Amino acid sequence: MASLEVVNVTKVYLAEPRGFCAGVEKAIKALAWMVRVLEPPIYCYHEIVHNQVVVERFKDLGVVFVQSISDVPAGAPVMLSAHGTAPQVVNEALDLSPLVVNAVCPLVTKVHHEVRVRAQKGYEIIYVGHKNHDEAVGTSAVAPSAVHLIESVEEFELLEGIESEVALVAQTTLAMDEWAEIREEVNRTYPKVWMPSKSDLCFATTNRQSVLKSMANRCSTVVVVGSANSSNTVALTKVATASGVARVIRVNTAAELPKDISGVVGVTAGASAPDELIDEVIRTLNPAQGVEVVTETHEDEYFPPPPELRDLMKNLFNLASVAFGREIGKEPTVLSNDRRDKASDVLLGLTKLPR
Ligand code: SF4
Repeated sequence: MASLEVVNVTKVYLAEPRGFCAGVEKAIKALAWMVRVLEPPIYCYHEIVHNQVVVERFKDLGVVFVQSISDVPAGAPVMLSAHGTAPQVVNEALDLSPLVVNAVCPLVTKVHHEVRVRAQKGYEIIYVGHKNHDEAVGTSAVAPSAVHLIESVEEFELLEGIESEVALVAQTTLAMDEWAEIREEVNRTYPKVWMPSKSDLCFATTNRQSVLKSMANRCSTVVVVGSANSSNTVALTKVATASGVARVIRVNTAAELPKDISGVVGVTAGASAPDELIDEVIRTLNPAQGVEVVTETHEDEYFPPPPELRDLMKNLFNLASVAFGREIGKEPTVLSNDRRDKASDVLLGLTKLPR
């Protein structure tokens, strides 16, 4: 990567945690594994995670991103994204391909489960999410006739009075304050509303927002690394703005940093932004007084590879043992190393296809 002209700010406060979450780690490592083992092209339904740089990197490696399963040739390997996929689409993929790997984050699966169960029990479900976001589209499709997708208090107020029992669920990556405002309003209108005992906003969303809130008053500018279609990245920009930060900038890469940034700068990153992009932003800001890490918590959540991939790896491993005529170990290295490997490093280590 060519080095960029530095900006020379005074100091950087660096949020911890920031960047990749456990769900994104799982999805990227799973797709990387498919890229390394299978002949291209590999088809991925929707962006594997919402980050422009990650998606472009995988395109260079022979992954074809599609918006419809009908764009996948019969028999080709299919990956389903981290955001969760409509049950109908999962079935279409299973009809079409013998290898479908579902990289959905378990915390999105939890929300699908809540929607499915409440709909079966006859509830009307108010689902707070962003229209057209892949996660909201997939979750709404679990029980389309029961789900009312809203984005704001104003949209909630437009809902006709609901006669049956009401459940309230949410997209995992909302801004906490926006969610709290809508939740309070729904509670006022439907005091007996059902809600999950543990919030649908995931740990990665709340941790990244909490630490940003705690450091915002020390920063004249906040830089959020991540893509415009990443819901949790946009939520971070909203948190910084609501916390009174004078200037909030979202960038895909350091090349997009304005040259007139000065003073004390907070840096954070959405859950789908790789370390290399954050590192390059800090190098470009080149703080005279250095970088101080502001820590909210250390995340140690880990989500293992999708079960379809674990099965495939074990089968390949057993085949290899047969081919070599002896046991070649206890389990595939890729499985035993998965917890230790960082998706950012795995991404950097993937080699481009010759063009
Ligand atoms: S942001 Fe939360 S829900 Fe989304 S992939 Fe990460 S851990 Fe899962």
